[in-house]
Amino acid sequence: MTNYHISRQVASRPFVVVPYTPDSQGFLEADIPSDGPCRSVNDTPCKIFVQGNRWRKTGPMMALTVVGCQTHGCYFTLYPEGYGPFMRQRIAPVDYVGEIIDADADADADADADADADAEKRHAFRGTFFQAAIDIASGITWEKWDNAHGSSLTQRRHITRACRLFAPSLGITEKEQIALAECLRIPTLKLKDLMSHFYNQTHFRSLGRLLVETLSQLPLARWIGRAIARLFHLAGYWGPPFFWDSRAKRLVQDFPTTL
Ligand SMILES: [Zn+2]
Repeated sequence: MTNYHISRQVASRPFVVVPYTPDSQGFLEADIPSDGPCRSVNDTPCKIFVQGNRWRKTGPMMALTVVGCQTHGCYFTLYPEGYGPFMRQRIAPVDYVGEIIDADADADADADADADADAEKRHAFRGTFFQAAIDIASGITWEKWDNAHGSSLTQRRHITRACRLFAPSLGITEKEQIALAECLRIPTLKLKDLMSHFYNQTHFRSLGRLLVETLSQLPLARWIGRAIARLFHLAGYWGPPFFWDSRAKRLVQDFPTTL
């Protein structure tokens, strides 16, 4: 049984998501924003400088750029599209600039080798943070000990977290429900219906199936990574995300009107 109906954590540190694109040598490079979340403090223009790179042992398997703001005296890490703080896996099927990754292309290749490729295997969110739920939905429990994904404990933790994204707590307010529905681009009533199913399920496999079904109802558009980043914030896991709009050259919190 799960215990995801627990009181919400509160993460408040804002973070910044930017596109990472290959430089002339093929190394992924962050698009440096001209403003940080600190700008909202007093609307004094930021003076951003690159502080350096932060190497990580786990995904995304690349150095993340850390920048500082001279005006406001703060530092922040730039995460690529589809990632956020402490996240080893993508949260959505998007690449480092936010474009949808075509899961069907790989699935078609697999289908020749495995004619039994089922709906879960072809799921757009395959290989993302939601792999734990996709696996359990098709009866796959991760090994007890750590492997490429993590242990069975990790699988349960991911499922518990994923459930809280779609049903943050028993105490979710009407306003938050509307915000969630807006993030997901689904009607509020439909969201309420989905949430009620989460509250009625207690077993991991049932929850996994429900998550797979919920994910398959999300519109696969290039803003989906940003929407899920917002869900992590609404569920209390992350502080508020800010997104760098490379074309308009401004930092935004809203979407997809700016994409
Ligand atoms: Zn600043």
